[in-house]
Amino acid sequence: MVTSRELGKTRLPLWAAGFVVLICVAILGMSIWREWEARNAELRNAEIDVANLAHSLIQHADDTFELADTLLVGLVHRLEIDGTGPDTITKLQAYLPTRKSSDRIRGIFVYDATGRWLATTERLDFSKLNNSDREYFQRHRDSPETGTLIGRPVKSRAGGQWIITASRRVNDADGGFAGVALLTIDVSYFAKFYQRFDFGPNGSASLLNTSGILLARSRDEGDTFVGRDLSNTPLFREWGSRPAAAIYYFTSPLDGVRRLSYYQRSNRYPLMVLASKSQDDVLAPWRRAAAARMTFVLGLVLLIAVIGFLLVRQLLQRQRTAQALVAQEANFRLLAEQSSDMVTRIGLDNQLLYVSPSCVRITGWSPEELLGTSSLAGIHSDDTERVEQAVTALKNGEAEEARFVYRQRHRNKGEIWAEAALHVTLASDSGEIDGVVAVVRDITEQKDLQDKLASLATTDGLTGLANRRAFDERLADEWARARRDDTQLSLLLIDVDHFKKFNDHYGHVAGDGCLRAIGRILSAHAKRPADLAARYGGEEFAVLLPNTDPAGCAEVGEGIRRALHDLALLHVQNPPSRLVTASVGAATARPAQATTDCSTLVAAADRALYAAKDSGRDRLVMSGQVVPWPAKTA
Ligand code: GH3
Ligand code: MG
Ligand code: MG
Repeated sequence: MVTSRELGKTRLPLWAAGFVVLICVAILGMSIWREWEARNAELRNAEIDVANLAHSLIQHADDTFELADTLLVGLVHRLEIDGTGPDTITKLQAYLPTRKSSDRIRGIFVYDATGRWLATTERLDFSKLNNSDREYFQRHRDSPETGTLIGRPVKSRAGGQWIITASRRVNDADGGFAGVALLTIDVSYFAKFYQRFDFGPNGSASLLNTSGILLARSRDEGDTFVGRDLSNTPLFREWGSRPAAAIYYFTSPLDGVRRLSYYQRSNRYPLMVLASKSQDDVLAPWRRAAAARMTFVLGLVLLIAVIGFLLVRQLLQRQRTAQALVAQEANFRLLAEQSSDMVTRIGLDNQLLYVSPSCVRITGWSPEELLGTSSLAGIHSDDTERVEQAVTALKNGEAEEARFVYRQRHRNKGEIWAEAALHVTLASDSGEIDGVVAVVRDITEQKDLQDKLASLATTDGLTGLANRRAFDERLADEWARARRDDTQLSLLLIDVDHFKKFNDHYGHVAGDGCLRAIGRILSAHAKRPADLAARYGGEEFAVLLPNTDPAGCAEVGEGIRRALHDLALLHVQNPPSRLVTASVGAATARPAQATTDCSTLVAAADRALYAAKDSGRDRLVMSGQVVPWPAKTA
């Protein structure tokens, strides 16, 4: 079952990652939006600039053509009143230069009805010049209209430069066509004037007529654009639907540069001015600043992203570690709680801090009952000290682990044998010993089995007496003890007389029964706790009598021999008694005074036994009574 808290834990890195992404996106979004606003503000400012410029320039164009208009109106009025007779023309030729007061006006011309030059401000011989081929001339000739006509730019016949013409029809007294009065303005006049204004490196100002013919342009190296027909451009194609003045974005058909512009039509003349700046020029400072700002912002976002990434990775790692820890803890808990062993944690004050559920099986008490109680409670009083010492050594840091077997009280079963493995625990923060973990196992069954095996290993199966091995060990022990205590150690070796014949006569089963009976006699006579009756081998027995002098030893030996007599087991082939009898060899040693080991005691008893056999059986011979071997063989 996954709790909501754990769910929250697993989603934390996701939230963190989302948060970092959100911050990055927000910073980026805001920066881009801000830059877009800054860009638009730059364009707005430039739009205001070009609009102001266009207002000024159209005013200038209006003024210029108004001046031309005024001059023309005066000139035509005069011609129409005075006619074009030679006198008038002569006077006019003298009068004209006085009218060309301003540098705006390039020249003033008068043509007769055939296009022949009548008078001009130009100083040249014009007697052969004829302008009847000019468009303005033909239009005036063919149309009765008397208004001022602003024509296309043409190359001057007089100076060869580009000029703009303003012309009016001259009527005779009957209203017929009498000629044309013409006034020219240099295209370069406008161009030079426009160049005084700052349109940026790629900006321009243009003067056009409303049919889309370019009259003058501020940037026109080599006069390549003058006279161009731009009526096909989008600006003029939708001319009718356009307002008289407006902001206009376009890609120039002349030089391919993207421009923002303001165009304004004249109220008085069929003219318009187009003031424009290159969009790239306008935006260049913003672009540079924006690039710097965006570089900084991108750097910042990158930094946040990297830090966020590291943070999220750290979170993920921590989470994985925590999950692994939880899983590990669950494993350990499972191990502790499912184990048949009792796992306990003991504090420095010996109190039980944790007890696994199997304590019920091992002690009979529940974990709740044991928690907080002393860990030493219930230990057999004989073992308490030993256990306490081991635990203290662990807590003092003298040992890291300890293992011992002890007796433990069980609520229902009385007492059990337990084996404990103890290990110190260290505090995770300070690294100091903060307690002990004990794993306790019920080994009562093993212990019983062990005891049984041990007794099997040391007991003779037939008689229940100690076997030869146990006898040998005890002999060595008692020899050492007697040496230490400077006491006497006595040994009886008992051999059944003519037992082979007994077997032969009565059978082995009877023989075994006889041996068992002798065993019982021996047990009964080894009365003192330290005495040991053993089956030495076949029908030979031994009785070890610690702290016993020769007299005591002889007494026990004699007692055994007599008891066998008293048992009166029939043995017809053992004359003279015809009962089961035994010969006894006895020896006493004082190990503290001996230079040899315990085998000499056995050898002495053995010699005494042989002496008893030799001297007629069914008797006890003390080793001191034995005739030495050399004496015997001699
Ligand atoms: P001696 O008086 O000289 O001791 O004569 P013995 O026949 O007793 O001597 P020996 O050592 O020649 O024979 C011992 C016999 O004891 C041989 C064997 O049949 C018998 N014996 C040894 N162990 C057992 C046993 O466990 N059960 C039985 N039934 N007989 C045994
Ligand atoms: Mg024997
Ligand atoms: Mg014998």
